[in-house]
Amino acid sequence: MTADGQILAPQTYNAEPIPEVARAEIDRLLMSGDLFRYTAAKDAPVSLLEQEFAALLGSTYALAVSSCSAALFLSLKALDLPRGAPVLIPAFTFAAVPSAVVHADCHPVLVEVGHDYRVDMGDFEAKLDDAAAVIISHMRGQTSDMDQIMALCDARGIPVIEDAAHSLGTTWHGRNIGTLGKIGCFSFQSYKLVNAGEGGILITDDPELAARAVIMSGAYESNWKKHPGMQNSFMLWQNKLPLYNMRMQNLSAAVIRPQLPEVALRVAKGRAGHDRVAAQLNSSPHLAVPPALPPEERAPDSIQFNLIDAWSDAQALAFQSEAKRRGVSVQVFGLSDGNARAFWNWEFLGPAPELPQTRAMLMRACDVRLPTRLSNAELDFIARNLIDAAAAVRG
Ligand SMILES: *Cc1c(COP(=O)(O)O)cnc(C)c1O
Repeated sequence: MTADGQILAPQTYNAEPIPEVARAEIDRLLMSGDLFRYTAAKDAPVSLLEQEFAALLGSTYALAVSSCSAALFLSLKALDLPRGAPVLIPAFTFAAVPSAVVHADCHPVLVEVGHDYRVDMGDFEAKLDDAAAVIISHMRGQTSDMDQIMALCDARGIPVIEDAAHSLGTTWHGRNIGTLGKIGCFSFQSYKLVNAGEGGILITDDPELAARAVIMSGAYESNWKKHPGMQNSFMLWQNKLPLYNMRMQNLSAAVIRPQLPEVALRVAKGRAGHDRVAAQLNSSPHLAVPPALPPEERAPDSIQFNLIDAWSDAQALAFQSEAKRRGVSVQVFGLSDGNARAFWNWEFLGPAPELPQTRAMLMRACDVRLPTRLSNAELDFIARNLIDAAAAVRG
């Protein structure tokens, strides 16, 4: 804020401070040099994080790893899919998701996504019969119809991995996202609700999957004994699986653990902030925020909305620059250069498939970060300037 009470354009890419209590623990770790998760006989910070995260989500097992991408990769490997197995993924996701599928020697099959950013159930069902597994990315925390998805996959015995990288704290019929499928994967990268710079975690109730993922994450020799509850399974897998070494180290866990008690508050603030901005944007004849599906309680730290009412590409680009000039950073997913969430930029997959519905959505869908720390005045600044930028372009 300036001296005369004017709100300056809010910084939406800066992080918030890590809770003070992390300092003492990090100091202790630096003094002892005890950074490797398997050095201590028990109660290493990474192990404690796993126990606390499993308890927070209500799952039986948790495995902390180096990133959500690593968690997705290990999930696919733990499922023991044949080489080249087709894995369904939404065509609207982050490039790391098809990358994890390729890394696991599987074949990503892209499914159309609608203007509400959720998996198109018609296309999903049409492509499902051939699939060996499904990854559902709850992209930007927007939950696809998990009732239908689970019913269709359960009927065919197809395992579902939830990419809940951006969905920590979201619920579906009151159940935590990430606990609906066989495995749930989360991210602690800096732009997610809990920030460790980098990091990820997977959760599951299946002891066999958990044991296999633990060993492949790099629990060599008998380090698996330091993971509680899987002793019967581990003996089956020790030395039978490759070690991909994607472990988390203790310093990351020391940064993450004190943030877990703050999750509930961040979720509440994120939802309130999102809904406040959404209500304002929906008052514009040019902008529309798709509503959540009825069973979904969101935990957003960003907002997505569509440019409605026949915008041209040139107008959409002008809207981006006009908003930026007013201090609000907005990206039209399909119009910002090389955007990692636009499927035609995933050139490593080969020629882009025809996905007209997802393409049309990406060409008019806008993305604005709304960190949960923003004040109401800052949220209103963002909403007002987006509306004014749209009006300026559309006249
Ligand atoms: C951030 C993100 C990822 C990747 O997470 P990393 O921890 O950076 O590997 C995957 N999927 C979605 C939907 C994401 O938002």
